Formats: sequence, structure tokens, C-alpha cells
Amino acid sequence: MNAPLRTAPSVCPHDCTSTCALDVEILDARTVGRVRGAMRNSYTGGVICEKVARYAERVHHPDRLLHPLVRNGPKGAGQWKPVSWEEALDRVAEAFIVKAARHGSESVWPYFYAGTMGLVQRDGIQRLRHAMKYSRWFSTICVTLSDTGWIAGVGSKRGVDLREAVQPADVVVIWGGNPVNTQVNVMQHAMAAKKRGAKLVVVDPYRTGTAEKADLHLALRPGTDGALACAVMHVLFAEGFADWEYLRRYTDCPDDLAAHVRTRTPEWAAQITGLPEQTIVEFARLYGRNKRSYIRCHHGFSRSRNGAANMHAVTCLPAVTGAWQHPGGGALYGHTGIYPLDRSLIEGLDVVDRSVRELDQSRLGPILTGDADALKGGPPVTALLVQNTNPAMVCPELHKVHAGLAREDLFTCVHEQFMTETAAFADVVLPATTFLEDDDFYTSSGHTTF
Ligand code: SF4
Repeated sequence: MNAPLRTAPSVCPHDCTSTCALDVEILDARTVGRVRGAMRNSYTGGVICEKVARYAERVHHPDRLLHPLVRNGPKGAGQWKPVSWEEALDRVAEAFIVKAARHGSESVWPYFYAGTMGLVQRDGIQRLRHAMKYSRWFSTICVTLSDTGWIAGVGSKRGVDLREAVQPADVVVIWGGNPVNTQVNVMQHAMAAKKRGAKLVVVDPYRTGTAEKADLHLALRPGTDGALACAVMHVLFAEGFADWEYLRRYTDCPDDLAAHVRTRTPEWAAQITGLPEQTIVEFARLYGRNKRSYIRCHHGFSRSRNGAANMHAVTCLPAVTGAWQHPGGGALYGHTGIYPLDRSLIEGLDVVDRSVRELDQSRLGPILTGDADALKGGPPVTALLVQNTNPAMVCPELHKVHAGLAREDLFTCVHEQFMTETAAFADVVLPATTFLEDDDFYTSSGHTTF
């Protein structure tokens, strides 16, 4: 008789708001099998995306980096020599010490992002940065714009769990995202609401797979969401859909807002957004008539320079109608504000020196190619430690990123699972674990299950 299959509980580490609950088959001490969605979390409810269901292929892939490597030829030539962990770590530490002694500690720049959302594996690099006074980090690639707009409007990064909207909501608006491809669980709950009778509205410049499912798709010009939201508010105020009792009780300047949008007519917004005037009015009336209107905001807002203002404008909609107070109404962008965590130990917040210069994550190319403005007038960056990201593929101004990474005087250590485009430029490559090989602590931003 076969032994019963052993499974271990886990959660998905990817940069995706679901943080799906997982059950991982343990085939033996070194081998995992199928990864399945677990029923422990009713938001993810056993539904996971295909890439994580097939994670065993990643974990046991023959191309995984298994030993530290040091460059053994010209930069980027792909010539490597395997070395021991001790030798590799000594080389990295020595290079950082030498560079810092020669150019100052700000010439070393730990560079990371969200390859894992584990608080330790992702954010521990910040403690190294702050303890050593290496250049600080201004995170600009993803959430900063949308976070700023949301917090300006709502006050905290929290909202209504989509599970609460499935039954009572009359309107579900998916704004600035394409969950058919990127948020399987959002789509699962949104479609359940639609099946029950709720209208599904999608606001997105593209005719995405999500837009294909919508009752109403508003294909506005990129970066014009704020104009649409202002015109919707114009209609809400003008046609009596504003809840003044709610506005006076819970918001700070409703009279100023009403005055501000008085001239932001649907005709005005049509010129900016490219949407027909009548479509804007139709959406505003649908939203205003149904107090149980729910908006799921996504990270598309961060893809334009005015993303914070756009997000702020959208957050005002449920405040104007008072939708927040009705079951099924309100909005969500992320829930990370519900975790009262002290991150000092992990991120080195107790040793931050704010006089140390802060460099912009998105400007890696100009920084590495000596742009004085990007370097904030400080020393050149002469050493990098890269974790959980592949900037040679994803950073803006790639030609400059590649030119910078190819600098012979730049020492680069890349900590990675595979030989990525960035790792190919490294002086030292350190093999990294996957989430099935390390311990960590995760929070979710798409739901409230702990
Ligand atoms: S849907 Fe998101 S959280 Fe769930 S398994 Fe896929 S990437 Fe991970």
C-alpha cells in the first residue's frame, strides 16, 4: 500500500494581492510535487493561478543556480568559476569595504524589489543598507504613486474586502487593472457578483480580457482617470446623488469639492478622456443610483505621472455617494494598513540616517552612467547588491542600465534563483532560495484573512 501523500501549508510569495493559501505536496525530503490552492482562506478558496500550481518545475529546474559563481572573464561574457560560499561572501564584503573606503559609503547601493513578498527575504536588505549607511532607496516603480493617491483620499491603506461585496453589491467597478490575467481571485468574486445580478464596469484604456467580461467598458485615454472621476462627481452633485449628511460627517472639505467639480462637466471630461459624453453620464448615474457600488482600484494608476492625482479623484467617489456606509459599497486598493507590524528589526528603521542620500529605483540607468542629477550630487555608485529583481529587463531606460551594469569599475553581486539578464553582468552570483526553501512572514493586501 502506498504511503499517504504528505502536504505542507504555505502561502504564495508573489507580488500579487491574493497571497493565496497553498498546500504543497512533499514527495521526499528534497522534492516537492503539485502545489494546490488550500481551502483555509475563503478569499482564495482553493483557486490559484497556473504558474504557482506548477511551481515544482521552477524549484527543481535544471537551470537553478546551486553554487556561488565568480566572474572569470570579461563582464557579461558568461564565463564563471564556481567557488565556496565562504569565498564568495568574502569577495562581496571586501569589495563593499574597499568601495566605501575609496568613495564613501553612499557609493554602495543595495537594489531590490518584490521578487518575493516575504517580509524578511524582501526587506532584510534594508537593514544592511541602513546599518552601513549605504545609499537609501526611493521606491518608484510600482506602488508609490497609487499609494499616495489612495492615502490622500482615504487616509489609510485599507478598504472593503471584495468577499463582502459579492452578495450585496449592485455595481462592481474594476478600475485600472486586468484581473483576468493578473488577479484570478478578484475576477472570481467579481464574476460571482455579476452572476448574481450586479453590473460589472471596467475602466481601462485597453480592451482587456477583463473588459471583455464587463457590462460597461470605459476605454479612456491613459492617465485621464482623474478627469473621468471629476465629471462623475459633477453629475453626482448636480443630479442629487451626493450624500451630504455623509460628506459633512466624514469628509473634510465637501463644499470645496463640489465647487471644484462644478466646471468639470461630462463635456469637459469627454475632451480629455476621449469617452463619449453620454457614456460618462451613463456611468455616473449607474454609480450614483446604486449606493451599494464597489470600486476595486488596481495599480494601473501608477503607470502615469499623474497617477496619484488620478487615484485621489477616484477615491472621492464612494465618499460623495456615501457608498462606504452601505453593505457591498465602498472601495479597495489594498489592505496592508490593517497589519500593526513593527518593521524596525527587519528594515533597520532604528538605525536610519536620513542625511544619507536617497536614490530613485527607476533611475538606475542614469545613476550608473553618472548623471549628476540622478546621483543627487553625490559620489558615483561603484557597488551594487541586487536581490529579488531583474533590472536589466524591467527598469526604465534599459540601454543606460545595460551600459552602467557593463562598467568595469562597478562591482555587482546578484542574489538570484536563475542566471537572469542582470546576473549575467555580475561579478559574484549567489544562489537564492525559493519560498518553498526558506521561512518567512507574509501579509496580504487583497483580503483581510490573517
Ligand atoms: S493568484 Fe497571485 S497569490 Fe495566488 S498563486 Fe497566483 S500569483 Fe500567487
